[in-house]
Amino acid sequence: MLEIAGLDLLTVAIGFACFALGAWLGTLFPDIDRFRFLRLRHRSVVTHSFLVPALLWAGSALSSVDWAGWFVPGFAAGVALHLAFDLFPGKWRGFALIDVPKLGRCTRSVSTLLLFSNLFVCVIMSVSFFPEHGPAGVLAYAATLAAFYAYGVWAKKEHFAAGPLMTILTLGGDAL
Ligand SMILES: [Zn+2]
Repeated sequence: MLEIAGLDLLTVAIGFACFALGAWLGTLFPDIDRFRFLRLRHRSVVTHSFLVPALLWAGSALSSVDWAGWFVPGFAAGVALHLAFDLFPGKWRGFALIDVPKLGRCTRSVSTLLLFSNLFVCVIMSVSFFPEHGPAGVLAYAATLAAFYAYGVWAKKEHFAAGPLMTILTLGGDAL
């Protein structure tokens, strides 16, 4: 059996796939508020936060679902990437500002603070699985984020593409 860092290749391949699937869903998830899901308004603090990754984390800790150890960190990494892009809007107006249910849109400074702090918690959650999976986890993390980051830059035609990347890398480096 072919082995990478003590794990057999099939285990690593399935783990990668679960991480990537989690990351993909994580990048999409916060914007379900566009569909007035639970009557939320777009850029709601409810979906643009560590809340759902943390609930998944708690759920996976309580149950012992196979592969959750790859999927949940992937999901947290995806949400982190989404928030990193939202941290650099073209203009801090309208939908760029974070919406708090019942209270309405925050100011630019509060929106920045909310996005940044939630992004930080998501990054901590996503990198905390490194010790468990070793080099395979680091590789899954780097490859998946690089792919989604490149896609994000391409899809959003980001004019300040370095911003989200530097934020993720700095926070990731701090959290490790
Ligand atoms: Zn968003």
